[in-house]
Amino acid sequence: MKIIIGAHMPITGGISKSAEKARELKFEAFQIFTRNPRGWKYPELKEDEVKNFLRASKGFSSINSHMPYLPNLASPRDEIYKKSFESLVEELKRAKKLQIKYIVVHVGSHLGDGLEKGKERVIKTIKEALNKVPCDCYILLENMAGQKNSVGSRFEDLGEIINGVNDKRVGICLDTCHAFAAGYDIATQNGLSKTVEELEKHIGLNKVMLIHLNDSKSGLGSGLDRHERIGKGFIGIKGFENFFKAKELIENRPMILETPISDYHEYLDDYKAVMSILSNIK
Ligand code: ZN
Ligand code: MN
Ligand code: MN
Repeated sequence: MKIIIGAHMPITGGISKSAEKARELKFEAFQIFTRNPRGWKYPELKEDEVKNFLRASKGFSSINSHMPYLPNLASPRDEIYKKSFESLVEELKRAKKLQIKYIVVHVGSHLGDGLEKGKERVIKTIKEALNKVPCDCYILLENMAGQKNSVGSRFEDLGEIINGVNDKRVGICLDTCHAFAAGYDIATQNGLSKTVEELEKHIGLNKVMLIHLNDSKSGLGSGLDRHERIGKGFIGIKGFENFFKAKELIENRPMILETPISDYHEYLDDYKAVMSILSNIK
């Protein structure tokens, strides 16, 4: 079974450092923020930076970016909605320059305005952004943890958005922590087969292009987005042992760790945990 594992790498000291660090850890894949994830502003990507990144990231099988946190593609507030659209366009442009294939996007929150209207807004923004930036980049909608007013925590809704946009450059990033928190019990055999069934029914497994591999600090169906180190949370070693049995999901699919670490070397502990769990089920 071909397994591809990587992690969300820091860009401290320049974006090319992320690739160097991922290589140091012997990862085959990684994910970055191409700018400060907690702000609206973004510095211009300098030619040198781009060149360095392209050199440093050669040979990885999967390079991904994650949109900043502030944009809300489902926002009923015009100003935020417009800024969010511009932010997505900017991310597509950056991904194009950096030759990043997948951009992970949080679908957003309708802020009480209703799920249906929220979905419509998301469809419209993504369509327009993709039209504005011709590239080989994909926008991957990340399933949400089920927070109040969130738009993308049910597979039905994500499927509807994908159909609404109707562009092959849209797919799904499945976050294990978010799925679990939203009530998809990937930690048990029954729960997992139901989850895979629903994924297939509403979205299609071929649309799942990336996995975020995180344990959960909060319980099944809690609606809370709290990542935990692999094996240390409510999914646990046994839960991941179960999840990894879904070969149709994990084989050949890049799996990115977004576990809470204070130094990137600590990802190696998560990596070891994953490999040890995998070796138990083979
Ligand atoms: Zn995310
Ligand atoms: Mn995630
Ligand atoms: Mn999260």
